[in-house]
Amino acid sequence: FVVEDFPDLVQAVDEIFEDSRSASSGRVTTYIPSLAQYPADRWAASICTTDGQVHVCGDADDLVTLQSVTKPIFYGICLDEIGEERVHEKVGKEPSGHGFNKITLARDNKAHNPLINTGSITLASLYQPDQPMSARYKSVMSKYQAMVEGSGQMLHFNNTVYLSELDNGHRNYAIGYYLKSKGCLKEKVNLKETLELYFQLCSIETSVRNASIMAAALANGGRNVYTGKQIISERSVQNMLSIMFSCGMYDYSGEWAFEVGIPAKSGVSGLIIVVIPDVMGLALWSPPLDSYGNSVRGVHFAREMVKRYSHGRNQNV
Ligand code: GLU
Repeated sequence: FVVEDFPDLVQAVDEIFEDSRSASSGRVTTYIPSLAQYPADRWAASICTTDGQVHVCGDADDLVTLQSVTKPIFYGICLDEIGEERVHEKVGKEPSGHGFNKITLARDNKAHNPLINTGSITLASLYQPDQPMSARYKSVMSKYQAMVEGSGQMLHFNNTVYLSELDNGHRNYAIGYYLKSKGCLKEKVNLKETLELYFQLCSIETSVRNASIMAAALANGGRNVYTGKQIISERSVQNMLSIMFSCGMYDYSGEWAFEVGIPAKSGVSGLIIVVIPDVMGLALWSPPLDSYGNSVRGVHFAREMVKRYSHGRNQNV
């Protein structure tokens, strides 16, 4: 086993999970009305080791939309499909120091990184632009599905959230036009389809349990932990994790890198995936967000977990 003493880990996870329940501050997001429906008291954590051992706590079978958690995975798929050079010609590797949906570019006139809206929308414009929308969506979705094949879990699509994003994503439309005006997107881009693809990828929905299995595939160098199939190349996963490390937690990313030091990505649904390379993936979900946009309980859990397991820093281990 990758984790020799799994029962010991399970016990630690259970304790930290219960302890984190009391971190009850934060607010459920409201800017997308259908996301405002998430009940504030839902709390789930799931871990999946790179050899497929799973342990869940709380509401781990609730379905949650990926939101920005989709971004690093889509970025990895783009690296494989479009090539690292072409991707990074258009999208940088720098933390932005701004909110995820700020209308701004880096000094070289490209999106700062692929984990914020400017970067992800740029990538959506480059992804199989000559194919029909159904084929583009299916192509990404089938990769996501392949990451969890064999788990008995499914990925779904939340059409209500998607329609709500379409109706209320004014800022994203503005970002789209801004990117177009700055020449960041593919020439003759179909902006409507680009944004639709972006919103669709945010509206993919799955259980918290399954999100940890996706994270475990990243911990496993891009290989599905059940089938062993390489879904995203190792090189691309390395790039994904580097950018998650520096840019994955909105404007809290620097602090996170310092305090937690593990690649992660959070989304406005209150979901966070955390990737401990060669060991396991975690998914944490609780809808109330702190002022940075990260799940309060999720951040609390990750910080406690690291405290407990970072030898040298903590006497209790
Ligand atoms: N659908 C969201 C948006 O772009 C994703 C935001 C996020 O999770 O950061 O507005």
